[in-house]
Amino acid sequence: PGAADHSIPFRTIADAYRLEEALRELEQSEADKIRVAIVGGGYSGVELACKLAERLGDRGRLRIVEMGDQILRASPDFNRDAAMKALSDRKVWLDLETRVANISADTITLAYRDAEDVLPVDITLWTVGTKVSDVVTTLPLAKTERNQLKVNTKLQVVSRPDIFALGDLAESFDATGQRVPSTAQSTFQQAQYAAWNIWATVNHRPLLPFRYQHLGEMMTLGMDNATLTGMGVQLDGPMAHIARRLAYLYRMTTLDHQIKVGLNWIAKPVRDLLSL
Ligand SMILES: Cc1cc2nc3c(=O)[nH]c(=O)nc-3n(C[C@H](O)[C@H](O)[C@H](O)COP(=O)(O)OP(=O)(O)OC[C@H]3O[C@@H](n4cnc5c(N)ncnc54)[C@H](O)[C@@H]3O)c2cc1C
Repeated sequence: PGAADHSIPFRTIADAYRLEEALRELEQSEADKIRVAIVGGGYSGVELACKLAERLGDRGRLRIVEMGDQILRASPDFNRDAAMKALSDRKVWLDLETRVANISADTITLAYRDAEDVLPVDITLWTVGTKVSDVVTTLPLAKTERNQLKVNTKLQVVSRPDIFALGDLAESFDATGQRVPSTAQSTFQQAQYAAWNIWATVNHRPLLPFRYQHLGEMMTLGMDNATLTGMGVQLDGPMAHIARRLAYLYRMTTLDHQIKVGLNWIAKPVRDLLSL
């Protein structure tokens, strides 16, 4: 209870602006500590915790609240270890095997085993769960409990094979039976199959079952630190940060995006320096 009213989700640009505003207010206040609780020890929670810890410095008191017994459950050990070290270096507290029992405007109640603790907090960030667009939830199509569309391996909605669905709004399993993760990496791959299968439907050709190919994972661990594992490579630290940026730049959809984002990355340190 209280999550909808008193926590900030982290999914959209609007959420990021809301967080920025809340941080700015606290930074300009007299408070000597800024207490941030991040619900969820997945990618978003860990990446946010590292960046916020660096931004808030000595004033920051950050904690990650995670229901499971470890953070980054699905990550390779190398990335998880690098993340654990980055969190520990930045003094981020980890509450594992802990549930959020309640959130109010200035407290968070944590349940660990049989005990509940009420802790003061300035910002609670909610990073768990995938929210499907309202439009999709109202569609008269077969859906899962989480309101994702049910699709077969060819990305056809099971109740309407003439409709194809992919990305976060669909729950799918690939040709080998593995669950397709809700990531940009898998969505990119699905897009090519969906396009082919639509063309094949129109032209009465056989449809292709989707095969997910996991290329690895990359994660930021602060402003100039990252970790990556994939295609036989394991790397952390500033080199991983640069490699991650280059990979993201390469995957931008158009040259225009690549130029805008690339120039912004180059110009930002200069802008930050000038605004000091
Ligand atoms: C904070 C965060 C960090 C992430 N980091 C990574 C990462 O590092 N690597 C990775 O692989 N994945 C990452 N992901 C997951 C990744 O962003 C998603 O899996 C991916 O974007 C899914 O693509 P999609 O096209 O299904 O949905 P989206 O990218 O969400 O695109 C859906 C689009 O539809 C628009 N839309 C919604 N409703 C309507 C409507 N009614 N009418 C018109 N348009 C509408 C939305 O505005 C949005 O632009 C991250 C997710 C989050 C939240």
